[in-house]
Amino acid sequence: MSTPQVFLVYARSHNRSVYKACRAPIQFYQHAITSKWMPFDDGVEILRSFSEAHVTHEIRGVPHFSTCPAADAFRKKRAPSTREPEQGSLL
Ligand SMILES: [Zn+2]
Repeated sequence: MSTPQVFLVYARSHNRSVYKACRAPIQFYQHAITSKWMPFDDGVEILRSFSEAHVTHEIRGVPHFSTCPAADAFRKKRAPSTREPEQGSLL
């Protein structure tokens, strides 16, 4: 459930910060494909760094969404989802 995963990111925030909803220590990384900043649990490893159009890093870390105790509360606030049911095989 909180297994580290590998991501390509453009950049990382300079400072550690604290996730507002739960006060957990996190670091933000900018996802190389979506360009969105994602919070990761502390302890992200930088596996490799590439220097191309952007400096890109390959990192391994746990997205904070998968461990955040407050994430369930966010999900419950949303309108009923139109997504397909999650498949248990991925968990
Ligand atoms: Zn959290």
